Amino acid sequence: MAIQFGPDYVRAIAPYQGGKPIAEVAREFGLDEAQIVKLASNENPLGMPESSRQAMLAAMADIARYPDSNGFELKAAISKKFSVPADWITLGNGSNDILELAAHALVQPGQSVVYSQYSFAVYPLATQAVGGRAIVVPANNFGHDLTAMAAAITDDTRLVFIANPNNPTGTFIDGAAIAAFLKMVPPQVVVVLDEAYTEYLSAQQRYDALAWVKQYPNLLVSRTLSKAYGLAGLRVGFGIAQPGLTDLLNRIRQPFNVNSHAQAAAVAALADDVFLTRSAELNTEGYKQMVAAFESMNIEYVPSSGNFVLIRVGQDDAAGGRVNLALLKQGVIVRPVANYGLPQWLRISIGLQEENAAFIHALKMALA
Ligand SMILES: *Cc1c(COP(=O)(O)O)cnc(C)c1O
Repeated sequence: MAIQFGPDYVRAIAPYQGGKPIAEVAREFGLDEAQIVKLASNENPLGMPESSRQAMLAAMADIARYPDSNGFELKAAISKKFSVPADWITLGNGSNDILELAAHALVQPGQSVVYSQYSFAVYPLATQAVGGRAIVVPANNFGHDLTAMAAAITDDTRLVFIANPNNPTGTFIDGAAIAAFLKMVPPQVVVVLDEAYTEYLSAQQRYDALAWVKQYPNLLVSRTLSKAYGLAGLRVGFGIAQPGLTDLLNRIRQPFNVNSHAQAAAVAALADDVFLTRSAELNTEGYKQMVAAFESMNIEYVPSSGNFVLIRVGQDDAAGGRVNLALLKQGVIVRPVANYGLPQWLRISIGLQEENAAFIHALKMALA
């Protein structure tokens, strides 16, 4: 009999399914890469900021050297922009890294982690990787039910993950509800507030998570440069928490987890308010364009506060796969979400106006 390596809980993990790469779809369907529209991974349709590109070119001169393992310049930029001390910051290889560091630093095999049904796929992965026991709380109208999540915390719970806005549903929890939740959480349970899409929130939706970090030693806020800042391929994100928790995460962080190009590009992007504003405005416009089309086509969608929308493409559980395939054949890549327990739905990232139009056209053909 073949030897089974590793613990059962690692063998039980279903690997993360990302958006299909453009080159792969071109090969599989015999299409020209230039004609393919990818709206599958919530990437910034504007590409990277020019300021970041220039910063990377300059950083190229030193690429034979190891990166700054403490990310001095990047922490200084984050510190300045968000008014937090540098020793409250943990840098990550994407914010994904921050989520995993939290699980590794805080959860022992058998201890529990609370998160919502239909929340980000990395929460179950990070939980399982450390042998944690997932407590999945049923969603309320596709979003987090914070009252039920607080009630689900048990004596062995070490971590709670909250995504706001949530991916893949786009649902948003208002600041008052989060503040009330934080009050209910026992002090030994760490709350990770994952704010990967916070830059897309409207002025009325905004709340001050960093004020809560000052109040709660058990709160870790995570942010990313992958979405509104346009640097997904570089892998850079960060966590903000009080020094106690930050110190713990940094003990198990790989010393060089954020590479030199990523650090340089992130410093430039954080200072580029023009790019960030343009990204958010383009998203607002694109969202309106998408929603107008869904309404005219009578397609059910979940109102979204992120840079993507979840739509229902049929009433049977083969619908997501079927419509996804029909879109792929037309060179449009979106994200099936059956792995989230949403087989009748697809998640569409908001793109450039012409990309959105190409998707809407392809969707009409696919549903005809
Ligand atoms: C995209 C995303 C992230 C992180 O992405 P990174 O590229 O690893 O920074 C984190 N949380 C949610 C909810 C996301 O959708």
